[in-house]
Amino acid sequence: MCEDFETLDPGDWGEYGRVMHQAVDRAIAATAGLRDRPVWRPMTDQVRARLRQPLPQGPTPLAQVVDETWETVLAYPMGNTHPRFWMWYMGASDMTGALADFLAAVDGSNLGGGNHAAVLVERQVIDWLKQVMGFPETASGTLTSGGSVANLIGLAVARNNLAGADIRQDGVAALPQPLRIYASDQVHGCHQKAVELLGLGNNALRRIPSGEDCRIDLAALRRAIAEDRAAGLRPICVIGNAGTVNTGAVDDLATLAAICRDERLWFHVDGCIGALTRLSPRHAGLLEGIERADSVALDPHKSLHAPFDVGCVLVRDESLHLSSFALHADYLDPMERGIAAGGWLFDYGLQTSRGFRALKVWMMLKEHGAERFGRIIGRNIAQAQRMAARIDAEPRLTRLAPVTLDIVCFRYDPGDMDADALVALNTEIMMRLQEDGIAAFSDTVVHGEHGLRAAICNHRTTDTDLSDAVRALVATGDRLVGLREVQAAG
Ligand SMILES: *Cc1c(COP(=O)(O)O)cnc(C)c1O
Repeated sequence: MCEDFETLDPGDWGEYGRVMHQAVDRAIAATAGLRDRPVWRPMTDQVRARLRQPLPQGPTPLAQVVDETWETVLAYPMGNTHPRFWMWYMGASDMTGALADFLAAVDGSNLGGGNHAAVLVERQVIDWLKQVMGFPETASGTLTSGGSVANLIGLAVARNNLAGADIRQDGVAALPQPLRIYASDQVHGCHQKAVELLGLGNNALRRIPSGEDCRIDLAALRRAIAEDRAAGLRPICVIGNAGTVNTGAVDDLATLAAICRDERLWFHVDGCIGALTRLSPRHAGLLEGIERADSVALDPHKSLHAPFDVGCVLVRDESLHLSSFALHADYLDPMERGIAAGGWLFDYGLQTSRGFRALKVWMMLKEHGAERFGRIIGRNIAQAQRMAARIDAEPRLTRLAPVTLDIVCFRYDPGDMDADALVALNTEIMMRLQEDGIAAFSDTVVHGEHGLRAAICNHRTTDTDLSDAVRALVATGDRLVGLREVQAAG
């Protein structure tokens, strides 16, 4: 090779390898030592400034780039890998998943499709997830960037097949009647974005009240469907929540499946939080009926702890899935032999080029085995129940919602404060625990009541982590109330 030939490959692979090995050693040490680090720490102005630099025109030695990455980026993570992070509902990541992301990038394959091993890995992962969900072998599915796109795909298939018009050809302008999709008022915000993007508008997503238990009111749902039909609207789909984002409530999926069958509606389940609970034999019964859904969205980057990002949608009837997304451009004609044989995975979703997300799920399931994931999911649910019992026994803590899966909503309430003061107090407790690096809770509102929320989707959380955090939370509340700081500040 001529000496001035420029490529992205290093000039000296040996030296390159040494830098990479050091980065791997450092990553392992950082992950092994997670528990000794604060959950989170604020970035200094200096660090922020280093992340606002001009476009680098010339080269920098890799070792220096890696050092800078550790100092300015990896030193300030969100915190969700930490054992005491229970803020938003998300996974805690996993080293094997990280290794897989690296190896997937080394493989470099485009999962748009073709005749190579990565495509078979994705098909294998989809088959495994179908099996976990009790879906038939003939069902189809695709890995997505996450639950939001998984839900969008499920709802797009529902719309295209039940719209009463050829939406792909003629668009929503050809709809004979306005469409209606139903979900409880606890439904995740991504469904609103989905109906907006699908051209149906936010009004097409009719929110049905949820009861005290945060599950959809089935009688109200039946009434809404009848009312809408009478008004000349066209009901097409019910979204069941298998674990609401706010409290982890699981709708009565078996009854929703029956309603959808009777009313000839598409039954989509948003299982981003709870679907994989089927891996825990003790808790799988909570999801009865999910196996009868027409489509399910689930999220391996939540309860499987795959590094971001990877979601999944399954569709019971492959032909309906394909009729919504398959497209054949001449330059992409499948071949009998060679690299273009083997089928296109982009026929199942939005992206043409697709990353090799499947590898992390495949390697993690192989290394850990499905049963370990089931035990960890079961343990997180048991931890939520113990935390709820602890809250119920603590006079200054009040629980705000029943615990079904691994989410606990509660607040610190000394008993003599008005609503605004309670919001300020609980917000301040949450902030202090975050800023002191002790624990990460979020806040939320359940049926109008503000409080804190622990989403215990974390394979590193021990019972001691939770009891220490609750003790710190109560102590922080007591201190704030004792000092009357909150009232003074307000
Ligand atoms: C997380 C979540 C989503 C969105 O999934 P992403 O992976 O964040 O895109 C949708 N629905 C529910 C219930 C969720 O918890």
